Amino acid sequence: MFGRFAPTPSSEFHIGNLRTAMVAWLAARSTGRGFLVRVEDLDLPRLSDAQRITEGQLTDLARIGMTWDGPVVHQRDRQDVYEQALARLGDRVYECFCSRKDVAEATRAPHGTTPVYPGTCRGLSSAEKDRLRAVRPPCLRVDAQAAHQSVTDLLSGPHTGVVDDFVVRRADGVFAYNFAVVVDDCAQGVDQVVRGDDLLDSSPRQAWLATLLGFTPPTYLHVPLVHSPDGSRLAKRDHALSLSRLRAAGISTAQVLSHLAASLNLAEEGDQVALADLVDRFDPALLPRDPWLVDPMEWADAA
Ligand code: GLU
Repeated sequence: MFGRFAPTPSSEFHIGNLRTAMVAWLAARSTGRGFLVRVEDLDLPRLSDAQRITEGQLTDLARIGMTWDGPVVHQRDRQDVYEQALARLGDRVYECFCSRKDVAEATRAPHGTTPVYPGTCRGLSSAEKDRLRAVRPPCLRVDAQAAHQSVTDLLSGPHTGVVDDFVVRRADGVFAYNFAVVVDDCAQGVDQVVRGDDLLDSSPRQAWLATLLGFTPPTYLHVPLVHSPDGSRLAKRDHALSLSRLRAAGISTAQVLSHLAASLNLAEEGDQVALADLVDRFDPALLPRDPWLVDPMEWADAA
């Protein structure tokens, strides 16, 4: 039984990423699970940048007191695993030649309903496929036929979504996030998934695919993201709120940890805490259900 944190090395962590990582670690450790770190680096153009950013991210995790089990796994090293899982899906997978524009038009849905890819390419004949292959390379989609899948989130409760024929391998050959993440979680024995709540809507698809591959879907806990007071999401560009920038501005890692713990209702504001001390206090029921409002200017002023 494992929990995990699965960062994308596209930029340095900001405090919101660290806060989600903390919840993932505490959720795993407080339930006696192992904890894995997996780098989601399937889709990054420059390997050297990804390596440098990963190093920084791992240093940040270690700095706040996080420990993980076994070596850090990189998705880019796991092509064979994805190929094998794809083969297991057999004829549930089909080639799709739709352009982005085709898909946007086909999935245009009335306001408030989930856009569903209608399976335009599901029934193409071999002759049509041969003709289209000469026009553009296909992506691969899994035939889900608008299944409905429910998941239960430890924080927000039951969540049901329509599973459309989502992409498992893109036209450029890169395995899609929704596919790789499920294959990895299943292969690594991950039965607890904690991440930002921007991915809540992906969880019905992922739970459905796990089941199709013969696994029990994991428990989910989606952590509300950090927002600026104007309601906008704290973006990756808000580097000012990374550990290294905050340290350079005179805010220690211990102070950051203390703020993060307080924001999760696991400590009083200003309490000195160590991450390991929070394991016994951790309870998903304590976690706030709303976004954490953080004013980057206030943090700058505190320095
Ligand atoms: N790589 C994703 C992120 O950095 C998280 C994916 C997941 O946890 O399923 O937001």
